[in-house]
Amino acid sequence: SKPLVEVKHLHKVFPVKRGLFGKKAYLRAVNDVSFTIQKGETFSIVGESGCGKSTTGRLITNLLTPSEGEIWFNGQEISKLNANQMRPLRKQMQMVFQDPYASLNPRMKIKDIVGEPLLIHESMSAAEREKEVHKLLEVVGLNSFHGERYPHEFSGGQRQRVGIARALAVKPSLIVADEPVSALDVSIQSQVLNLLQDLQEEFALTYLFISHDLSVVEHISDRIGVMYLGSMVEVADKETLYDKPLHPYTQALFSSVPVPDPRLKRERIVLKGDLPSPVDPPSGCRFHTRCPSCMEMCKTKVPEFKEVAPNHYVACHLYEKGNE
Ligand code: SF4
Ligand code: MG
Repeated sequence: SKPLVEVKHLHKVFPVKRGLFGKKAYLRAVNDVSFTIQKGETFSIVGESGCGKSTTGRLITNLLTPSEGEIWFNGQEISKLNANQMRPLRKQMQMVFQDPYASLNPRMKIKDIVGEPLLIHESMSAAEREKEVHKLLEVVGLNSFHGERYPHEFSGGQRQRVGIARALAVKPSLIVADEPVSALDVSIQSQVLNLLQDLQEEFALTYLFISHDLSVVEHISDRIGVMYLGSMVEVADKETLYDKPLHPYTQALFSSVPVPDPRLKRERIVLKGDLPSPVDPPSGCRFHTRCPSCMEMCKTKVPEFKEVAPNHYVACHLYEKGNE
């Protein structure tokens, strides 16, 4: 079936000042990234901080404009739409952020925070809005008493529930959740993840889930994309990626995940060297400075992102015909 989101050769470059004389340089945050998100699935992007996963989420929800490439949403190319053309689509894609406290106005009552998107996007009476807010609070496990209170009176988990209720208010089809449970205690994390899964079923939501935490990602994902230094290096379904990762970076990243069965215990792969700067990324394969399998060609030739098995995509010369 037709994907809800299709990203094609996406690039995002930020100008930065560097050095003593503020010489102009460019931070290549997202570099030729392509992937799709199917309706109703949870697609996760994983990778270390600074790999471009948050920027990718913000590009898809149109909070940032791509430097190059295409973003298709429900069969429409959206990356070049102006604000007017974008308005009806904005409702359909909502974001949930890591720190709900920072995104909630401390002087507004919870009911007004949750009702604000309705005020902006929907024409309804105050009474209708109030009814809708009550429903939304209940859907996320809160009630109308909570609505009369202020963000500072809430725990982190409750605040994230408010952030989710607010995102749901305009009935989106896509929710981009950027590290939504990273700021929460582990015991609260699974409650919020379970809530997200219940809501997905109830409202036929599609999720783009962004996280550096592989145990969280394992809990929630259908398919996973792995990013390294702005590039998408591997995409596959969760089982394939956890059991048989192909890209040397994915293998290293996932080697740190504890496995319940000790017989399956794999050796932890520790990468040499530091993460290079995205302002001055390595030539050829961006991972070549740290890759345990680096070949001569990797230093100059950019590996293509290719489907090497059904629905399994890898960008690595090891899996190109003739190099095996
Ligand atoms: Fe390693 Fe070469 Fe594959 Fe890059 S292309 S991941 S350097 S083997
Ligand atoms: Mg981030």
